[in-house]
Amino acid sequence: MKIHEYQAKELFGEYGIPVQAQETATEAQAARRAAERFGGEVVIKAQVLVGGRGKAGGVQLAASGEEAEKKAGDILALQIKDLPVERVLVAPAADIQQEYYLGLILDRGSKTIVLMISAEGGVDIEELAATSPEKIRQLPINPVDGVEVGALRKILAETFPSPELQKQAEDTVEKLYRLFIEKDCSLVEINPYAKVEGEQLLALDAKINFDDNALYKHPELERFKNPEEYSDDEIEARRHGLSFVSLDGDIGCIVNGAGLAMATLDIVKLYGGNPANFLDVGGSSSPEKVLNALRIILGNPKVKAILINIFGGITRCDDIANGILMAMDQIEIKVPMVIRLIGTNDVEGRKLLTERGFQVAEQLSDAVAQVVRQVEGGAAQ
Ligand code: GDP
Ligand code: MN
Repeated sequence: MKIHEYQAKELFGEYGIPVQAQETATEAQAARRAAERFGGEVVIKAQVLVGGRGKAGGVQLAASGEEAEKKAGDILALQIKDLPVERVLVAPAADIQQEYYLGLILDRGSKTIVLMISAEGGVDIEELAATSPEKIRQLPINPVDGVEVGALRKILAETFPSPELQKQAEDTVEKLYRLFIEKDCSLVEINPYAKVEGEQLLALDAKINFDDNALYKHPELERFKNPEEYSDDEIEARRHGLSFVSLDGDIGCIVNGAGLAMATLDIVKLYGGNPANFLDVGGSSSPEKVLNALRIILGNPKVKAILINIFGGITRCDDIANGILMAMDQIEIKVPMVIRLIGTNDVEGRKLLTERGFQVAEQLSDAVAQVVRQVEGGAAQ
């Protein structure tokens, strides 16, 4: 789960990581009032669940309430990487002397958490990582042992010029790490971690990703959930207990099992097709689940054909067949459907479907080739 900067900063505040006072606004006039309450120069920042807002014009300084209203209006009219800006953050503008970078990520390669620190933070961090990776210092942290203080101090001494800044950074790293562990994060990032006047380091930006599989342990994070992170289809699918991810192709896919679903997407690609979605109907599929899956997929106007790929283990092929037939009776299916059924009760399942005039394949390669042909045939008309 991703959260907005203002939400991440709220959590930073709870952990004692230094952040600015902040307000949020969904309308330009409200941004003006917030700016007037702060007085002086403010920064206005788009709250969208993607990075690179600065470069997209989503971060602006304003010297007065009037200017804040104008800039907030401009930012609220933006789309950043296709995401509409629905809220802005307003905070007193910081006078930045230097931008550092501080991040913690879960590194699956080394099976550790990695702390990353750079004295050259800011909006070009990706470029820095690509061209001068040595400028981003890394410290692997074994989660069993926690942060090795000696090694951390060495890196901080190489990065920050004064003992005062090093002390502040050490404190921030410790708190950030505690947040990372306690809240089951996969990424926590401060960029810029800015040096401002008075030898002070401040988290001027904040990014947190949580591990979705650990969210059940954190009811306190519920309040941070943003419906805009998920497409309407994804929300609807979740409601029906289906594991669903929207993709941008035109072949709707219904598969049982996450591994088989991923393999199916690969095979569709291999045959030159483009999947419209990932969908795992789960191990114990009821006919209703298939009906709901079909409903969601058919609601996507991009879908030109449907591939159903079932390898029946716990899932019974006759349940799947009944779900398809139920769907036929309840919704209009205007696109071609290719079905591959094999495994538990496949003979019964295939019989149910062939009686109603469906072509049912046994081989996945046949089914995929057929569905890709259907889509190509449709495109040529
Ligand atoms: P991002 O582009 O999505 O990562 O958004 P950031 O919050 O990191 O803002 C982008 C850039 O805007 C920062 O690197 C800063 O250079 C600048 N910026 C952000 N907040 C302030 C501020 O309070 N004062 C000043 N002067 N610049 C800021
Ligand atoms: Mn940033």
